[in-house]
Amino acid sequence: MTHPPAAVSLPPLERWLTGPRFAAVPAPQAGRPPPALSFEFFPPRTEALEAQLWTCIARLAPLAPRFVSVTYGAGGSTQERTHATLARILAETALLPAAHLTCVAAPRGAVDEVARRYWDMGVRHIVALRGDMPGGGAYRPHPEGYAYAAELVQGLLRVAPFEVSVAAYPETHPAAPSPAADLDHLKRKLDAGASRAITQYFFETETYLRFLDRALAAGITAPIVPGIMPVSNFAQAKKFSAMCGTSVPDWLGRLFEGTEDDADTRRLVAAVVAAEQVRLLQANGIDEFHFYTLNRPDLVYTIAHILGVRPAAAA
Ligand SMILES: Cc1cc2nc3c(=O)[nH]c(=O)nc-3n(C[C@H](O)[C@H](O)[C@H](O)COP(=O)(O)OP(=O)(O)OC[C@H]3O[C@@H](n4cnc5c(N)ncnc54)[C@H](O)[C@@H]3O)c2cc1C
Repeated sequence: MTHPPAAVSLPPLERWLTGPRFAAVPAPQAGRPPPALSFEFFPPRTEALEAQLWTCIARLAPLAPRFVSVTYGAGGSTQERTHATLARILAETALLPAAHLTCVAAPRGAVDEVARRYWDMGVRHIVALRGDMPGGGAYRPHPEGYAYAAELVQGLLRVAPFEVSVAAYPETHPAAPSPAADLDHLKRKLDAGASRAITQYFFETETYLRFLDRALAAGITAPIVPGIMPVSNFAQAKKFSAMCGTSVPDWLGRLFEGTEDDADTRRLVAAVVAAEQVRLLQANGIDEFHFYTLNRPDLVYTIAHILGVRPAAAA
């Protein structure tokens, strides 16, 4: 028989009071302005998904995000849908749209042409990305293309004076030779003219905060905005995380354990996990957040509320 740890044999009150102490995350300070938010959407594939996106936009727009971004299928697979979504945002809302644009599997001329089209329609902000090979597999630059995102940033700024955001990886991009090399590549993108980085999503806040330390030590001063992915479907998030190099801590799995057939509990767990993450970030001074909405508004709206953001009309 194994013996329980000594503390377990103590009477309850003594056991409670001799365990590790945790201070609560400090409450947001009164008078502090609410954080700046941005929301990411994907271009819908069907009419039903289009309706879902627009319900989502209608719900989140009153939170007055600094910008909303629309993703782009690598290799241009969503080119027309991304364009149509941006056009509708410009026509029907007061939101500032940012267009994601990848350079993988395309010659420079074609990428520049897409950017020019964006500028002509009124898009002034691009999230510049290398992208991944459309069929999967190891990355190979297009012979006449921009090889990496840093080159794309330079190319975009030759097309027009866009505001440019780029991607950052607190856990290091999966194909990077080393964390230091990856950070050096991030610095090149910012030095090329990008004004902010948005991170891949992460679950360990500590990992992101240490990444900021390393970035500052490497001479980066631009904001590295945390990308927040509220998890509502744990199984799916685990699968997706494996592909993009985000580690999924055991504690997260334990929190969602047993909720597979219980959507209500799952939703509440998801809200608590994301709220804890953003509150901890806020307590550490972070005042800009980018949300991967997956075109679903409720969790994002709730978390924004917890961060102190209120609809513009009620502010
Ligand atoms: C916020 C965000 C939004 C995204 N949106 C989209 C989207 O809309 N569509 C999409 O398809 N994908 C998107 N992605 C995914 C992204 O395309 C992939 O993660 C891709 O693998 C890397 O893109 P990047 O722009 O970070 O590439 P890069 O910055 O070019 O880096 C890619 C890899 O190459 C290395 N590298 C960089 N420069 C050099 C160099 N000169 N020599 C050697 N190695 C180098 C880097 O260290 C890294 O390992 C997004 C990712 C994030 C974080």
